Amino acid sequence: MQEESKIFDTLVIGGGIAGQETALSLAEMDYQVLLVEKDLSIGGKMIQLSKVFPTLDCAACITTPKMSETARHHNISLKLNTVIDDIRKNGDGAFEVTITEKPRYVDPSLCTGCQECEFVCPQVINDHYNYNMVGRKAIYIPFNLANPKIAAIDIDNCIHCMRCVKACAPKAINFKEEERKTTVKVKSVVVCTGFRLFPGAGKPDYGFGQYPNIVDSLQMDRLIAPTRPFNSVVRPGDGKAPENIAYVLCAGSRDSGIENKECGGGCFNNPICSQICCMYSIKQAQLLMGALPMADITIYYIDIRAFGKGYEEFFQQSKGMGVNFVKGKVAKIKENSNGSGDLVLQYEDIHSGVYKEAKHDMVILSVGVLPENNVTGMFSNEKLELDDFKFVKQKDPFLNPALTSIAGVFVAGMASGPKDIPDSILSAGCAATEVATYLKTV
Ligand SMILES: Cc1cc2nc3c(=O)[nH]c(=O)nc-3n(C[C@H](O)[C@H](O)[C@H](O)COP(=O)(O)OP(=O)(O)OC[C@H]3O[C@@H](n4cnc5c(N)ncnc54)[C@H](O)[C@@H]3O)c2cc1C
Ligand code: SF4
Ligand code: SF4
Repeated sequence: MQEESKIFDTLVIGGGIAGQETALSLAEMDYQVLLVEKDLSIGGKMIQLSKVFPTLDCAACITTPKMSETARHHNISLKLNTVIDDIRKNGDGAFEVTITEKPRYVDPSLCTGCQECEFVCPQVINDHYNYNMVGRKAIYIPFNLANPKIAAIDIDNCIHCMRCVKACAPKAINFKEEERKTTVKVKSVVVCTGFRLFPGAGKPDYGFGQYPNIVDSLQMDRLIAPTRPFNSVVRPGDGKAPENIAYVLCAGSRDSGIENKECGGGCFNNPICSQICCMYSIKQAQLLMGALPMADITIYYIDIRAFGKGYEEFFQQSKGMGVNFVKGKVAKIKENSNGSGDLVLQYEDIHSGVYKEAKHDMVILSVGVLPENNVTGMFSNEKLELDDFKFVKQKDPFLNPALTSIAGVFVAGMASGPKDIPDSILSAGCAATEVATYLKTV
């Protein structure tokens, strides 16, 4: 095990928008930041999105300048493809952190991002960035706008044919690379680990995974993104352009009960309001009206929670554009028995109290958010407390939203509960200020 001699002012865990903003704010104050990201690039969920509500700005156009600044800032040390094994608080108040950098099998100092290796690699597997709707190679750049833009080998799917080695002019590929364990000392920690998307299959009555023309909302954000996998919006089942699209809101949000837990038969109960689903569905509906001008779009909702600045106006704008809103709780989705691949929605019309059916040719489940479940196990001699819904517990959500149960450990972004991008950025600014105040005391 190596030991890093440099003592960092703070460790930021997670390189999504909240982690980047926290790291940059502290780096600009001249603090030394170690940013650890488990994936091959920083960016988090935001770099997968199409446009953002309520301005419809291109998500990549907003987030890539911040990604570049984060990756290149002289006060930020970036560790990608890295997991935190252990965080231990010492008697002196500082933290000893053990990290493992997983092998990339490509030397970052030599790789030019030319993709010649990708072109010759014969192994095609599902592309997670595009939600498995298209393929990628065993050697790959995580996505077009990845930062840094360096290839990596998915060793579990590599057949060691060595074609990439022959194709790589700068000789960047190194199959002998091994994982590296390092211990490093930091004075504070900010948890920015974000969220998990509610799995569509967690609502078995909705047929996600069973019927191909039912997708989830992140798949739809990919289908309408400027960096989309296909050149137009198509149904996964048969490649047909959809003409009558349905959104099912609160699919994995606002379930009865007070805990998020398994409820048998693959079902999952998530009681919280995920806060972002109403708005991202309205955003997608507006974008779809541009992409498919002849399509009908219906949003089935319990309530529309348009709580942020400009959000109510954005909702009204979508009504004006012709999006059809139905106050109805969807009970079940089945495939039409005529072999068309179309879907039949059974729902209760809340205004009339009448049980109804409607046919659509594509359905989007507006799935909710769940906490990342990999956070508490990192802390070995202190307890990072969680709230009732298993998000990181804020010491006081109103007065000290960035403080956690451990002195010197802070939280920002979705790690402490559902937030949209503006609120994630605000919480990151709050966490950075709290860290700076704390660092004056240690
Ligand atoms: C379909 C969809 C559409 C959306 N559209 C919009 C929109 O239009 N406008 C808007 O304002 N918001 C939108 N959002 C919400 C937006 O995605 C979130 O607000 C934002 O991503 C939260 O950022 P974050 O950094 O907290 O979390 P994340 O984006 O989840 O980033 C967390 C990062 O931490 C990393 N990480 C996790 N665990 C570890 C670990 N143990 N060690 C190291 N790294 C770790 C992850 O790999 C990831 O990079 C949308 C969300 C969805 C699902
Ligand atoms: S590994 Fe080599 S061939 Fe592949 S992108 Fe990097 S420099 Fe190009
Ligand atoms: S050695 Fe592996 S990564 Fe390289 S071209 Fe062959 S299958 Fe692809």
